[in-house]
Amino acid sequence: MSAPDRSPDLHDLGVAELAARLAAREVSSVEVTRHFLARIQQHEGLGAFLATNPDVSLAQARAADTRLAAGERTPLLGVPLAHKDVFVTRDFPTTAGSKMLAGYRSPFDATVVSRLGVAPGGAGMVTLGKLNCDEFAMGSGNDNSAYQPVHNPWDTTRVPGGSSGGSAAAVAARLVPAATGTDTGGSIRQPASLTGITGIKPTYGRCSRYGMVAFASSLDQAGPMARSALDCALLLSAMAGPDPDRDSTSLDLPVTNYAAELAAIGSQETRSMPLKGLRIGLPTQFFGAGCSADVLKAVRAALAEFEKLGATLVDVSLPLTELSIPVYYVIAPAEASSNLSRFDGVRYGHRAASYSDLTDMYKKSRSEGFGDEVTRRIMIGTYVLSHGYYDAYYLKAQKIRRLIAQDFQKAFTQCDVIAGPVSPTVAWKIGEKGDDPVANYLADIYTLSSSLAGLPGMSIPAGLGAHGMPVGLQLIGNYFQETQLLGAAHHFQLATDWHQMKPEDKAGLPA
Ligand code: GLN
Repeated sequence: MSAPDRSPDLHDLGVAELAARLAAREVSSVEVTRHFLARIQQHEGLGAFLATNPDVSLAQARAADTRLAAGERTPLLGVPLAHKDVFVTRDFPTTAGSKMLAGYRSPFDATVVSRLGVAPGGAGMVTLGKLNCDEFAMGSGNDNSAYQPVHNPWDTTRVPGGSSGGSAAAVAARLVPAATGTDTGGSIRQPASLTGITGIKPTYGRCSRYGMVAFASSLDQAGPMARSALDCALLLSAMAGPDPDRDSTSLDLPVTNYAAELAAIGSQETRSMPLKGLRIGLPTQFFGAGCSADVLKAVRAALAEFEKLGATLVDVSLPLTELSIPVYYVIAPAEASSNLSRFDGVRYGHRAASYSDLTDMYKKSRSEGFGDEVTRRIMIGTYVLSHGYYDAYYLKAQKIRRLIAQDFQKAFTQCDVIAGPVSPTVAWKIGEKGDDPVANYLADIYTLSSSLAGLPGMSIPAGLGAHGMPVGLQLIGNYFQETQLLGAAHHFQLATDWHQMKPEDKAGLPA
């Protein structure tokens, strides 16, 4: 099948660089696609992919090449990517990392998938396959996938973070130049941090949720994961935008050309101080004893770089940070218990082979189809919504959620963006947290509050911590301020090269 591979270094190129080579016709989309497919196969052991289909990917690449040959020049045309397996796809199976959906094939593409893809009206990106994730996006280590755990390419004995761990590992290992992820309580930012890549969760509603397997609908948001802020900006412009007929919570705001806006930021200022005037708020609660010293050291060093670029650091307070864990772990399971009731063995998903009556069929199908963590959350969610407990748990959590959002607005009177760690530690060993669900929940301490508030947040590589593992810096913006976040990150990445680090530089990327 394959012509000789003329470009063994193609996988080191980012989205913008690949797009430029494709547009200059130095390489074809078919060549690029073949190169990445071979690399995916070579590194199958990472467990990042749940499905590939070379015939489908190559057909998409040929379609992109035809458009390129006809002179079309759109920013992502012919560049490959892969999707987290919670986005439904017509051409690939969709499992959401669950046995419940084994073998499921959607009759349609998610809005995000069709906006990025080669179908008419799409950005023309080629889909290389579907990426492993925690079951129904519930998890912080990607060890909750019903299929296989994902390994961190920096150290395969460690987790890549979750729930978009397959997306993060694939981008970090350069099996794909970019991937989609979803973030309900940190699942784009935390795996990006733990694998040394860049990811942004936009403002809630920025990307359509149509065709995203629902976990907690008031929190779920799609976003891009790539190696640089510029690449994330290119993808986000294509993914985002209103989808009024299909997702009533999608924001009715025009799509911005984020990449073009990045170039403009700081142009009135001196070249060396592009972030002059940017006030970065540091919440005291994000810099306390709960965060390990190696992570804080890398985060502070990155913040010193921001100061060199002209930003000023100010102290702010988010007093309810600790409560974000119990609040999130009431609200998210509550919504999940409702969303997941559709998996009943009739309308979707797994059905038990033998049962005595209808109730038995529901019970057996759901017990067999859902893993332990999903089952736990359905039970918690059902409990907190039940008569007699609703006021005490669900309603109380909603009230505190509102207060958490208000605290952010207070902080934003003193600063433009908020910064801190993404995760209190570097990536931990697979299995290290044992069967203790709360140990995983605690790892979400710095990402949950902005999710509850619906604010945009991103993770950018900020250095290395313990065991030579990557550390991410989190930037949280006010509503709709994606350009500000991406711009700050972009200028940091122009001045530093943490985002260029590769797992090979550390230990050698194992197959
Ligand atoms: N770790 C969090 C959870 O398990 C967040 C997951 C997510 O953002 N999808 O719910």
